[in-house]
Amino acid sequence: MQAEEYNRRGKEMVDYITRYLTTIRERKVIPSPEVKPGYMRELLPDSAPAESEDWDRIFTDIEKIIMPGVVHWQSPHMHAYYPALTSWPSMLGDMLADAINNIGFTWASSPACTELEMNVMDWLCKALGLPSFFLHHHPDSTGGGILQGTVSESTLVALLAARKSRIQQVKRTESDGDLDDSVVNSRLVAYASDQAHSSVEKAGLISLVKIRFLPTDDCFSLRGDTLRRAIQEDRRRGLVPTMVGAEEGLWLHVDAAYAGSAFICPELRGPLRGIEYADSFVFNPSKWMMVHFDCTAFWVKDKFKLQQTFSVDPIYLRHENSDQATDFMHWQIPLSRRFRSIKLWFVMRSFGLKNLQEHIRHGVEMAKLLESLVKSDPNFDMPAERHLGLVVFCLKVSYLHLNWKTLLFRIVDGCCMCSTSPTRESANNVTKPTFFKLALYYTENTIM
Ligand SMILES: *Cc1c(COP(=O)(O)O)cnc(C)c1O
Repeated sequence: MQAEEYNRRGKEMVDYITRYLTTIRERKVIPSPEVKPGYMRELLPDSAPAESEDWDRIFTDIEKIIMPGVVHWQSPHMHAYYPALTSWPSMLGDMLADAINNIGFTWASSPACTELEMNVMDWLCKALGLPSFFLHHHPDSTGGGILQGTVSESTLVALLAARKSRIQQVKRTESDGDLDDSVVNSRLVAYASDQAHSSVEKAGLISLVKIRFLPTDDCFSLRGDTLRRAIQEDRRRGLVPTMVGAEEGLWLHVDAAYAGSAFICPELRGPLRGIEYADSFVFNPSKWMMVHFDCTAFWVKDKFKLQQTFSVDPIYLRHENSDQATDFMHWQIPLSRRFRSIKLWFVMRSFGLKNLQEHIRHGVEMAKLLESLVKSDPNFDMPAERHLGLVVFCLKVSYLHLNWKTLLFRIVDGCCMCSTSPTRESANNVTKPTFFKLALYYTENTIM
C-alpha cells in the first residue's frame, strides 16, 4: 500500500472511531435478543478469501457484522462486570505502540520499551502513595514494577514466586536440599478471603497450591484472627503456609484490581493501611484510570524472588548489558511483551494527576448519588456497603413468578447494563428466587 493510501484509510478509521465514541450513548448497550450463539456463522464465508478483498467492503462489514454483536463497554449506560475505560491519549499511545511493534523481552531487544516502563511504573507508584520499596529507582529498594497483561496473570506470578521461595526455604531447613520440589509443593497452602476474585482460585489450580478461602466478617473483610487460626491449624497438619497473610513471613499479595485507581486520590487511600507489609501489589489502570486494556500494574518488593522463579537464561538472549539492565522476560510468564507503557505515559501526561483525581472523584460522587436514591426507596435493600463506585442493592419485593433472567431483561431492556446474581438466600433455591443482587459500577467515561 502507498503512503497516501495508508493515510486516507487511517483517517477514515479515526473518523469512524470518533463517531462511534461520540454517539455511543445512542446505541443499546447489549445486542438485540436475535443475537444468539453462532449468529455470525451465516454472515461469514466458510473459509478465508484466497484473493485480496476491497478495503471498502471490509470497512462496511464493521457495522454489518461486528457491531450487532458488540456490548458497548464505553457506553455511559454500561455498569456491568467492571469498568474498562479508554481515552484518546490511551488509544493514540497504543496506535504508536502497534506501529513500533517491538517485542521488548530484554533491555537490548528495545531499550526504550524497558526504560519507559520502569520510569512510568515509578511515577504510578508515587501517584498511588505506595511504599518506596516498590520503586525501581530508589537507593534502598530491591523491588520494582512491571506491566502485565492481566491481574489474573499477576496473581499467578506472585503465587509462583511465593511458592518458589517457600519450596527453597523448606528444602534448606528440612533436608539439605534433596527433597523433591513436587513433594514440598503438595504441602503448600495459601489463603484468601471467601470474597476474593476467581483468579485466585485459578492461580491455585495452575500452581497446585491449595487455597483456603476463609470466612469474612459482616463487612466482607477477612480478619486477622481467622487467618491466624487457619495458619496454626494447617501447620499442625504438616502443611506449609505460603501466601496471603501479612503475618508469620507469608507472602502478602494485594489484589486492588478495581480499587487501585482510586488511590491516586489521597482521601481514598484508607484501604492502603498496612500496605508496608505487602510483598506484591497489583491493580488495573485498564479499569478505571482510562488506560485501555491491556494494562495491569504489578509491583514486587523483592525482584530477585521473581527472577529466581522465571529465569531461563538462554545464551542467545544474553546481551552485553545483561548484568546492569532489567530484562522483564524474567518477571513474567511469556517471553514476548508489548510496548504497553506508551499509553500509560500518554494518559498520565495529557490528563495530569489532578484531572485523573477529578475523574475518580466524579465516579465516586455518582455512586453516592445512586446509593442515596436506593436507600430512600423502600423497595430496595443494600446488602453491602457502597465501595468507591460500586453499589450493590437488591429488590425487597418478591418476584416469585419471574426467573432471574426475565428480571435482568426487564430492568436492563438494552438501555442499561448491570450485573445481577441471585443472593445467597435465593441461590439455594434458584427456581424460586426472591432476591436479586444488582451491582452497578458508576465509573463514567470522561473521554470526549
Ligand atoms: C477485575 C478483577 C480481577 C480480574 O482482572 P483481570 O485483569 O481480568 O485478570 C481480579 N480481581 C479483582 C478484584 C478484580 O476486580
